[in-house]
Amino acid sequence: MNRADMLARAADRREPWDLVIVGGGATGAGVALDAAVRGYSVLLVERADFGSGTSSRSTKLVHGGVRYLRQGNVGLVTDALRERGRLRRNAPHLVHDLAFVLPCYRRFDLLQYGIGLTAYDLLAGRERFGRSELLSARRVVRLLPTVRTDKLRGGVLYHDGQFDDARLLITLIRTAADRGAVVLNHTPVTALLKEGGRVCGVVFHDAETGVEIRAAARVVVNAAGPFCDDVRHLADPTTPPLVAASQGSHVVLPRAFLPTDHALLIPETPDGRVLFAIPWHGHTLVGTTDVPIPAAPTDPAATAAEIDFILETAGRYLAKPPTRADVLATFAGVRPLVKVASTSATTAALARDHVIRTDQPGLVTITGGKWTTYRAMAEECVTAAARLAGLPRRPCGTAELRLRGASNPDPGDEFGGYGSDAAGVRAVVQSDPALADRLHPDLPYRAGEVVWAARHEMARTPDDVLFRRLRAGALNAAATEAMRPRAEQLLAVERRA
Ligand SMILES: Cc1cc2nc3c(=O)[nH]c(=O)nc-3n(C[C@H](O)[C@H](O)[C@H](O)COP(=O)(O)OP(=O)(O)OC[C@H]3O[C@@H](n4cnc5c(N)ncnc54)[C@H](O)[C@@H]3O)c2cc1C
Repeated sequence: MNRADMLARAADRREPWDLVIVGGGATGAGVALDAAVRGYSVLLVERADFGSGTSSRSTKLVHGGVRYLRQGNVGLVTDALRERGRLRRNAPHLVHDLAFVLPCYRRFDLLQYGIGLTAYDLLAGRERFGRSELLSARRVVRLLPTVRTDKLRGGVLYHDGQFDDARLLITLIRTAADRGAVVLNHTPVTALLKEGGRVCGVVFHDAETGVEIRAAARVVVNAAGPFCDDVRHLADPTTPPLVAASQGSHVVLPRAFLPTDHALLIPETPDGRVLFAIPWHGHTLVGTTDVPIPAAPTDPAATAAEIDFILETAGRYLAKPPTRADVLATFAGVRPLVKVASTSATTAALARDHVIRTDQPGLVTITGGKWTTYRAMAEECVTAAARLAGLPRRPCGTAELRLRGASNPDPGDEFGGYGSDAAGVRAVVQSDPALADRLHPDLPYRAGEVVWAARHEMARTPDDVLFRRLRAGALNAAATEAMRPRAEQLLAVERRA
């Protein structure tokens, strides 16, 4: 993927695109891939970097949602479990099985969660990841050596999926580009083109040069996540808001807090929240909060109160409570909560947590949902958009589509997440001793990976590399700052090349 080529293709196009997509998160990338696979012409424009919104700030679970099961939303859970299975098949280099342990401190919980998680297995059917089991207190401690043992009655083990959200996002973008989509980062949409009251394209500019580009479209898809109302307002400033923002935060601790391959789940803390502690890239990821906020910031950050809340809650379940001094990094993401109930203009059915709105001529807005269901959301969205635009009807082709890199899922070394691109990354790393250097002693990333990201993954800034092509920013804030000058230097060389 080369950004200059992409820009030239966008600028030179004389006829309307079938679809122009605003937003390069999971939703927009999923829509771009689905539409490109159906053979439609596609332009995707992202104002910052691919995945820089909520899609790189999730809990990194590919899951049916045990929480929804408790709410009795069986349809939603079944759909998500089906997508979970598909995603593991289509991206085996990025999605893997993770065993969760629910420690139970009341006998009733053992019964309640034992039954609930057996139902979870049954709903997954053939897509089941692993069988749920009841555990004795002794086994809970063996699997979670740092869990609080006081009054521990036993536990329940169940399986879900874990993934690297930003890496999957880049993989989706690259797969869409392989299928002919033109994808651009650092290109904010600032206006919509309209003709006779109908949206017929977008105006965006290249944030690096300021050059403005107008792109005509048969239909525009608004996949701007928590910012979808801003795009809707570009079409009609009087349209009422569709979403409210809610912020979720995570805290990253050293692996010593959960020195195991199993995750800890507390499905209901005394104040009614869900708490996860998850092993991830050699660290422990703990979350999450969910706090209503007045407006979505472009770069949300965990507040002191949220960090303290997570530490305090985790401390109730871990033998050694974590303190502020243990925190290596924090990150926060914004969830768009849909405000309005379903209407005839809404294709959201009962068992979904996303909406697709077609109430503004020429513009389809898709928001909500979750990472796990991005593919099914995209399928529904492209079908609706194609109908609206009068495009020829073509079936969706993503259900069994292997994503880029999936053909060689396990190179078995530090470059495993690149799948079949691993050989290319390794070649860059080995091309020069300076590129084999680690960027920081506490993290596994090598200088050559920055070069690879710049050459093949359209990384433009140190944040693009450190937060999304590599995951340093989500793992260790101090190490990330120490790596920044070297990343900038390597990017500068690539920019001049
Ligand atoms: C705390 C938290 C934890 C979560 N954990 C999980 C999980 O474990 N598993 C799971 O399945 N789901 C999870 N989710 C849900 C999942 O992360 C989201 O559903 C998904 O990332 C939403 O993707 P999106 O593309 O709709 O939004 P975003 O990722 O926010 O993408 C929208 C994009 O639009 C761009 N944009 C906005 N305005 C413009 C403009 N004018 N021009 C161009 N681009 C623009 C933004 O820059 C952004 O990149 C979690 C959500 C939160 C908040």
